[in-house]
Amino acid sequence: MDCTVLALAMNQQSLRARVHGAGPTGLLAALALAQAGWRVQLLDPLSPAVLRQRSRAYALTHSSRELLERLDLWQPLLPHLAPFRRLELCDQATHLQVPFTLEDLGPRDDHPSAQAVGWILQHTPLMTLLLDRAAGEPAIALALGAPLPEVGPVELVVAADGSASPTRRSAGLYLLARPYRQGCLTVQVRLRGSAEDQAWELFRPEGPFAVLPLGGDAFQLVWSAPADRLRRLEALDPVAFLEALSAALPAALQPEVLLDQPRVFPVGLELAWPLRRGSLVLVGEAAHRCHPVGGQGLNLCWRDVAVLHSLAGRAAAGRLRPSRLPAAYAWRRWPDLLLILLATDALVRLFSNRNRWLLPVRRLALTLLGRLPWLRRLSLAAMTDGPGGSLRA
Ligand SMILES: Cc1cc2nc3c(=O)[nH]c(=O)nc-3n(C[C@H](O)[C@H](O)[C@H](O)COP(=O)(O)OP(=O)(O)OC[C@H]3O[C@@H](n4cnc5c(N)ncnc54)[C@H](O)[C@@H]3O)c2cc1C
Repeated sequence: MDCTVLALAMNQQSLRARVHGAGPTGLLAALALAQAGWRVQLLDPLSPAVLRQRSRAYALTHSSRELLERLDLWQPLLPHLAPFRRLELCDQATHLQVPFTLEDLGPRDDHPSAQAVGWILQHTPLMTLLLDRAAGEPAIALALGAPLPEVGPVELVVAADGSASPTRRSAGLYLLARPYRQGCLTVQVRLRGSAEDQAWELFRPEGPFAVLPLGGDAFQLVWSAPADRLRRLEALDPVAFLEALSAALPAALQPEVLLDQPRVFPVGLELAWPLRRGSLVLVGEAAHRCHPVGGQGLNLCWRDVAVLHSLAGRAAAGRLRPSRLPAAYAWRRWPDLLLILLATDALVRLFSNRNRWLLPVRRLALTLLGRLPWLRRLSLAAMTDGPGGSLRA
């Protein structure tokens, strides 16, 4: 049998998957499945140009770095990543401050590009790379912004179509949803008073406030507060907005110029139940959503993809029956999802208030965190990797 015939025969035997949704999770899932040897259809009603254009920045942890490395996407992203080597946790009610540094991460990859507590990555360079890779990958058929082609039977359907997930709804899967009274406002600013490789998580009585470096003196702000207050802030002119921002930030951090338009979005705690039905699995925000405190959202979505990648590889190698994949996926994802959803919810409840009964608990928690390096390592590891790398893949 010559090489072409052999390749064709192998190709015909490939497992097939259909991914609904080409957001950051769906695109990465399609690339992961293709790398694992599957043939993939990737569908989204939005065109590539629209998919690329969002003014957002994501905080990435080491679990995301490891997956991107496995998919050969880390090196091309390096020029676009803003690393932070220190994360300053400040509670404005107790005036306690705890720094997390590289020492708190424990042993990691020695490569210089891995020497950071985390990274900030803008949406557009990320999506440009993922879309280009998907377009150049022969095992992926794209239907983006185009009418859906006639699609044949597949062994696996991946719903990565976001928190409103039409695929989840039509499969009749439940969504446990608890909206927060808080919303979230994101804006990019030029700021004085912070090192360019430092991130801040400020606990303010109205909600958590993250200051994330984008390189130089540019920072992405993620401001949580009651939704109606944020809507009023969003409507302010730039000068009035900067004044309100200065009042909210510690005196050391001085915002100078807005770099984009402030945008408010709702936040909620959501978990789909179950995470699969028949050949369908839910990934990313189709499966779960959490408060942005601690920058967990996209990392949690991509840990879904990491598990899918590992199981898809086993199925392609004949070590897992494809029909068993959805159950194995759902089983593996529960510990991580429950830990992160509960941890972010507890942080929001404990720190978004001035409740005098809670102040001693906060004081104790932050004092212990400041004094005990092993406790800092444990909490940073949980936020970076989920509950144990071994459970992920
Ligand atoms: C307004 C807003 C601002 C945000 N800002 C930030 C931020 O600054 N930083 C941050 O870390 N996170 C932010 N988030 C959260 C972050 O965007 C999500 O964590 C991330 O987008 C989740 O990726 P996803 O691929 O799972 O879902 P999504 O990004 O929502 O992608 C879902 C995709 O599915 C597609 N789709 C919908 N219906 C169908 C269908 N029937 N068939 C096929 N495809 C379909 C959609 O077009 C979309 O492309 C923000 C969220 C919102 C809503």
